[in-house]
Formats: sequence, C-alpha cells, structure tokens
Amino acid sequence: MNIHEYQAKQLLKKYGVAVNNGMVAYTPDEAESVAQQLGGPLFVVKSQIHAGGRGKGKFKEPEAGEKGGVRLARTVADVRANAEQMLGRTLVTHQTGSVGKAVKRLYIEAGCDIARELYLSVLMDRAASRVTFIASTEGGMEIEKVAAQTPERIVKVPIDPITGIQPFHARKVAFGLKLEGKQVNACVKFVTAMYQAFMDLDASLIEINPLVVTPAGEVIALDAKMNFDDNALFRHKDVEELRDEDEEDPRELEAARHSLNYITLDGTIGCMVNGAGLAMATMDIIKLYGGSPANFLDVGGGATKERVAIAFKLILSDPNVEGILINIFGGIMRCDVIAEGVVAAAREVSLNVPLVVRLEGTNVELGKKIITESGLPIIAADNLADAAEKVVKAVREAA
Ligand code: GDP
Ligand code: MG
Repeated sequence: MNIHEYQAKQLLKKYGVAVNNGMVAYTPDEAESVAQQLGGPLFVVKSQIHAGGRGKGKFKEPEAGEKGGVRLARTVADVRANAEQMLGRTLVTHQTGSVGKAVKRLYIEAGCDIARELYLSVLMDRAASRVTFIASTEGGMEIEKVAAQTPERIVKVPIDPITGIQPFHARKVAFGLKLEGKQVNACVKFVTAMYQAFMDLDASLIEINPLVVTPAGEVIALDAKMNFDDNALFRHKDVEELRDEDEEDPRELEAARHSLNYITLDGTIGCMVNGAGLAMATMDIIKLYGGSPANFLDVGGGATKERVAIAFKLILSDPNVEGILINIFGGIMRCDVIAEGVVAAAREVSLNVPLVVRLEGTNVELGKKIITESGLPIIAADNLADAAEKVVKAVREAA
C-alpha cells in the first residue's frame, strides 16, 4: 500500500525524522489558511498524488498554468492563486502515464533554502536478505538512472537484523553522502529514526528524494515516499486508514473486496487461473508464444460460481483486453463451478473478445459439457501450451 507524501511526513516526524512544517489542504480556502499559519516567507505548494516526478510534471488543463506540480510561493495570496490553479486539475508525470492523475489534495509546506540535494532510501534488499539503506549524492535525480550511469555514486548499507541499526551504520550513510561536521550527527539521528519507522510500521520502502542540506547545515526530508507490506497491514489499522482509494487501480480494489488476487498488467490477454504458481506459469507461456498478459489473477481454490463470475467481469472490464485465457487445473476447485461462473458472467456482459478455455481435473467432463451446451463461442484447448498458442493466435486474427 502507498500513502501520500504529507502522510508519510507526519508518520516520519513522530519518529524524529526532520521535516518542514506543513499541512494538507483540499480547497483554496484551506490552502490560504495553512499558509497564514505557516507565516512564510517561503511556501511550497505540492500536489498530492501517488506518483513521483511531480516537480517536472505538467498539468493537462491550460487553466493550471505552465508550472509543474510542485510550486514555490512567496505570499499567502500566491499560495491561494496556485491552489486555485492546481486543485481539480490533472497532473501528468513520467510515472502517471499519459492519462495523468487528478490533484485533489495539496500539501502546503514551509519552504527552505537548499545547499545540497541528496538521495536516501531504506528498503528490503531481497538479494542480500537485509533491510538496506541506499544513499547517493545525486539527489533529485531518478535513482535508477544514477544506478545505471554512475553506480559508484551509490552507497549501500545493509543492516543485520540481529543487531539492528548501530551508530556506525548511520555514520557510513552520512560519509557516503559526503556530509561534514555537525551534519554528520544530524544525519545519524535522521537515519536512525528512519530505520525505526521502517521496522515499527512494517514498511517496504521509505524514499527521501531529495534529502536536503540547508545553508545552515540542517538535514531535512524535502520529499517522502512510503510503501507498506500489505501482509502486515492487519496490525497497523492507523496506517490502513491512510489509504486513498482515489489513487488505487479500481479493478484491483474491486478484486480485493471479493478476496481475489488480481494485479493489473499492461498486456492484452486476460488470464483467469487457479493457483498462484499456475497463474505465473500461464503468464510465462503466453509470453513464450508472443503475447503478453493483461493481468495476474488467482481465483483460488474455494471460489464460488459468483466469485468466478465477478473475476470474469473484472477481466472483461479492462479496455486493453483483446482475448481471454482461462486455465484451470481443478483440484479443490471444481471445473463445473468455473464453467458455471464463466457462462453466467458471459451471458450478463457481452463477450466480444476470443475466449480460450483449458480445463483439467476434478469434474472436467461436466465442466466441458456446461461450456459446450452454453452455445458461447469458446475455443477449447487440450493443454497449457495449446491454450497459450490458441489465444495468442486468436487475438492476432481478431486485430
Ligand atoms: P517530486 O518532483 O514529485 O519528486 O517532488 P519533490 O517533493 O521532490 O519536489 C521537487 C523539487 O521541488 C525538489 O527537488 C526541490 O528542488 C523543489 N522543492 C521542494 N521543496 C522545496 C523547498 O522548500 N525549497 C526549495 N527551494 N525548493 C523546493
Ligand atoms: Mg522527489
């Protein structure tokens, strides 16, 4: 799960991470009142969307003006004018795709002067099996680019879970960032607090880009991104409340409501499979035959006919889907239940893309009979390879 920058900063502040003062605003009036409280002389008006690259982003509507999604303002009136331009408009950044994201909240923050912009994150490094800090002197840039072009400018500091974070770890980060004098201590405090927040809140990523050093030598988080481990959310009700459903994929939300494991991907072949392993194998074999999956979906073992129907409609509601592959190996899941769900859903919504079905296992004959007798234009397949080949071919022919 992701949260907004302002929410991440509120959480991090509680742990002692240095951030500037600020508050969220949903309307120009609120933006003005926050600015009055902050007092100035410099303000930053920041679009709150679950995507990065806001500063260099562009609004779609001309009414929003030429400037990006993060704007400096010198007066309260200026804050208000920018809020009026930005709220309700669509911001396009390199992370939103061309459709962009609607800006419904702004974060109004006290601005500060910047001497240096740095990069700092903490995440789970799966290769090292360690929570690891990643630091770079190249702040404000995309870290993927720094890693590709100048890997020597990235410092990695893995933390042993037995000892937890120690002062030497934090100093290693500070020296990696080429900090000096009292900045080193400020950084040690910052890094230690960040680690504590990461562990306590079951985060999967905290990224501060940029981490800035002010001319006075303070070390402050100017931006903050936090992701959380969904499997641990049950023990963080307060974090779960920060969920902003406007920012989430509507199909993934709908799937979660019905306990379906569904992830949107960017291909054209919708997949309905039982079992996560078989779903992965199905996606692989679609690729092998030259297609690309539009989603991951594991309907699970105990799905009812109703849930199968919901899953099928979910796949069909994706405008990118040009063909569907149903691949069921019925063990606990019965093939007749799948068949009934698919037939029911296909009757309700018009099935206007080719559908390839491969059924195997428990009650397979009954499942096949239900599908044959339904009269739906279904392409039957004998095995996994045959199914993948047929769906890729059917999509090509339909195009
Ligand atoms: P992002 O573009 O979505 O990553 O948004 P950021 O929060 O990182 O802001 C983009 C840029 O705005 C930063 O890299 C800074 O250069 C600038 N910026 C943000 N806050 C301040 C501030 O308080 N003072 C100044 N001078 N610049 C700021
Ligand atoms: Mg940033």
